[in-house]
Amino acid sequence: MKAYQGRGINNGIAFGAAFILKKAQHHIDDAPAQNPDGEWARFLAAKKEADNQLEALMEKTQRELGQDEAMIIDVQRMMLLDEDFDDAVRGIIYDGGHRAPYATNQAGTHFAAMFAAMDDDYMKARAVDVADLAGRLTQILLGVSTNLHLTAPSIIIAEDLTPSETLQMDKSKIRAFVIQQGSDTSHTAILARIMNIACIIQCDIPLDEAFSGQEMAVDGAAGICYLVADDATRANLLEKQKNDEANKQQLLEMKGLPTITADGRTVRLYSNIGSPDDIPYVLENDAEGIGLFRSEFLYLGRDSFPSEEEQFEAYQKVAQAMGDKQVIIRTLDIGADKQADYFKLDAEENPALGLRGIRICIERPDIFTTQLRAIYRASAFGNIAMMFPMIASVWEVQHCNQIAADVRSQLVNEGHTIGKVEIGIMIETPSAVMMADELAKEVDFFSVGTNDLTQYALAIDRQNNKLDRFYNPHHPAVMRMLGAIATAARNTGISAGICGEMAADTKVTKTLIDMGFDKLSVSPAYTLALRKVIREIG
Ligand code: PEP
Ligand code: MG
Repeated sequence: MKAYQGRGINNGIAFGAAFILKKAQHHIDDAPAQNPDGEWARFLAAKKEADNQLEALMEKTQRELGQDEAMIIDVQRMMLLDEDFDDAVRGIIYDGGHRAPYATNQAGTHFAAMFAAMDDDYMKARAVDVADLAGRLTQILLGVSTNLHLTAPSIIIAEDLTPSETLQMDKSKIRAFVIQQGSDTSHTAILARIMNIACIIQCDIPLDEAFSGQEMAVDGAAGICYLVADDATRANLLEKQKNDEANKQQLLEMKGLPTITADGRTVRLYSNIGSPDDIPYVLENDAEGIGLFRSEFLYLGRDSFPSEEEQFEAYQKVAQAMGDKQVIIRTLDIGADKQADYFKLDAEENPALGLRGIRICIERPDIFTTQLRAIYRASAFGNIAMMFPMIASVWEVQHCNQIAADVRSQLVNEGHTIGKVEIGIMIETPSAVMMADELAKEVDFFSVGTNDLTQYALAIDRQNNKLDRFYNPHHPAVMRMLGAIATAARNTGISAGICGEMAADTKVTKTLIDMGFDKLSVSPAYTLALRKVIREIG
């Protein structure tokens, strides 16, 4: 038995096969091509995609490293135009009868060897470029930058996971996350909480391929995982699992009870979700609404924008499932740690301070308008509200409200039925806190994103786990900000809620309610435990 220690950030005992997530593993088979024309078309499409990727990379390199370095990438783009390379691939597909990935890989190996054998030093050095380019094309053709296919109930072991990686996995097979890096508010952590599975971050486990498929056990509360646990450890974990289950059963008594403090204050206890797939967790845990639907998850893990229709269906599904309970859809909050290549956003020195959240929607009204149309159309099927993330200025809210009003009237003119749709904003920048009294006049509600607010208030990157001891959501500066937000909302007569991780932190539940927050939105799994705590306040 081997044991590895990290920091447990979501409780639970889990057993499963170790799944070591390593980048770009692929196997190129030499099975005969059934349809040479189809294989050739695939190759041409891959070239186009490679050119897009290289163009983005070139711009990034130029900005970050300068023109000379960018030229290295440009050389690869020129190689993409090389007819000799195309001829070689075409020959291997049509004459050799092979598929596109095999042909590309073979042609790459051949050309790289040819360049390497040249006398001219400059040409010799191009061998690396050819190999690199052929590798890129092959990966595009195989569609496997990373192996994310789970075949059995698994414990995911990785350096860290991007939201798009977790999105591509079969959630029903994930039993726990064990991450070498990660932080409390990283998206793997958030996902673990929504799914209510054990999660260990900053774990000292190596990414050893030999572990793959071996039995792992995870103790989320203790932050320890075991590779092939011995009998005594296993028995101990099973006992803990039994106790967890008993506690869960006990909390079921909270189902159906109102969320009201012992001294009579009503709190709306909502859930945070990332997709319509999370609805069963919400209903199971008797949440009173959706306080944060992170709509950007609809945009991640894919290579083109979700259409209006696709988004409409997702929002409609959630609205219908929740009936008359409120569903607050947060408009697209992409950027920073949530990246989608097809947005073709420039690389930035400080992504957390860059073009993200509402700023993208303001810069790219086409994207925003499509989403707003989908939200408004879905509003006919339930009780939908929406909120804008990362607001820093009053004009941004006025601007977005105007776009929303225009979209709404256009839909009405087109004959669509539209529900009421309250509009709110997330308060997650210090600027929004300072302007809260002015902002409150523009909207129906506030929802505080304490994850980002803490990051921006304390000037601490929420993704940087080396700063964990400094990232303190209970910092008096943050608590004073929260007080100011609640006061501004109360003075203007609008509702104020919290949807960041702090909403589930029972150490401050009473403080938050005393400040005047009337809505707490948490991962579904925390709902009943929080209801219990709230009902004892007074
Ligand atoms: C937050 O910042 O607290 C929040 C709820 O949004 P996200 O974690 O998605 O940035
Ligand atoms: Mg945020």
